[in-house]
Amino acid sequence: MTSATQAKTIAELRANNYQVIPVREEMRNNLIAQIRAEQIVFPGIIGFDETVIPQLENAILAGQDVILLGERGQAKSRIIRSLVNLLDEAIPKIAGCEINDNPYKPICRVCRDKVAEQGDETEIEWLFREDRYSEKLATPDISIADLIGEIDPIKVAEGHYLSDELVIHYGLIPRTNRGIFCINELPDLAERIQVGMFNLMEERDVQIKGYRIRLPLDVYVVSTANPEDYTNRGRIVTPLKDRYGSQIHTHYPKKIEDEIAIMEQERTRFPDEENLVVPNYIKEILAEITIQARQSSEINQRSGVSVRVSISNYETLLGNALRRAIRHGDTWTCPRTSDLSYIVASFAGKIELETFEEGRESRVTDDLTRRAVLRIFDGYFDVNDLETVVTAFDLGQTAETGNEKLASEYPALIAQVDGLAAAVKHLTDDQRPEVLASAVEFVLEGLHLNRRLNCERTPAGSLYRR
Ligand SMILES: [Zn+2]
Repeated sequence: MTSATQAKTIAELRANNYQVIPVREEMRNNLIAQIRAEQIVFPGIIGFDETVIPQLENAILAGQDVILLGERGQAKSRIIRSLVNLLDEAIPKIAGCEINDNPYKPICRVCRDKVAEQGDETEIEWLFREDRYSEKLATPDISIADLIGEIDPIKVAEGHYLSDELVIHYGLIPRTNRGIFCINELPDLAERIQVGMFNLMEERDVQIKGYRIRLPLDVYVVSTANPEDYTNRGRIVTPLKDRYGSQIHTHYPKKIEDEIAIMEQERTRFPDEENLVVPNYIKEILAEITIQARQSSEINQRSGVSVRVSISNYETLLGNALRRAIRHGDTWTCPRTSDLSYIVASFAGKIELETFEEGRESRVTDDLTRRAVLRIFDGYFDVNDLETVVTAFDLGQTAETGNEKLASEYPALIAQVDGLAAAVKHLTDDQRPEVLASAVEFVLEGLHLNRRLNCERTPAGSLYRR
């Protein structure tokens, strides 16, 4: 390969005995090699090891076109982009060709003329794998011109033959010739464009403004769609539907650990995070909020609740914790349950409510947050083991918490309330005040949500009492 990529003419390519193979075969060969070498074929894709990935590998081994069906935020784009890893590092094309012509078998008029004239001395160039992928979000206003091409009226007027490819201004698919083209949300494409796409892929010719043009492209086309739109009668023209060898359903993470792993992998990171401490229960609560949202009848499940909801909520929560740490001059940044009220900013815009009503988004966010905190709390504690804490409140103890409360005030509270130290210890051995503050809030809020403590929401935060 290394010596071959140095070839600069068709003659040098031939001297290296370089074979040009179709893109499906190239992907298949590389997949076989990667599976044999036990390499990770789809790096960074979490939670699909036993579902989506085997099906996708089968489709590639079978040389089939694929449509991925799934709601928003199920890593569909990421999966498709990672197919680029199955392409050769570089392939030769005729230098300057708009549609990446195969040096041995050019299809565009310019290249055919060039090869006829210069023969094996025709110059080639190398096309790297990153440049062999393109994607487009389907919208109703996408035209044949965008995707396939258009006839240049000036060139027609200059007297070129109508069937002459010289007059075509190529669209996105021909420009991705010998590569991977992804069309997102396929059902949003107008029917006539779907027909054009089908003809191009299957018959290898296309009608542009009434002219029939032969265009024998070699493109691996992958599509995505929302499952409901895709199965909805009439949204996809039948021949196009038939063309997909495999339809693969994506899904949201099936395990909370996977949701958390994605949050950690995808969230925005900064170089100065060495003072950040995030207790596990905080991550679990955030992931659980999303999981609860995916089951909520108040949220439109047709559009789904993306993993991006978890990621953005996590970022927002860390933002609020950092803002407090800066203002208080804290050493450590540690998020608390009282910070959760801020996630509405990242949450509300990413979900679609079934009905609209002023203030409903905050109420839904609040409900889901409580449900999630309760569920995660019950995984850590049996409330009956916390009777000592409840008794302390029975005897008149009160406690005030809040996202603006100084971390340094919490150790005193732990000392004051019988049983609270033991409850905190159940969560962490960490003695840093910022971490203790977070643990105390989780315990008190959990008791409240279990109806063991009353809670009055104050402007400053929460006042717990019996
Ligand atoms: Zn060409």
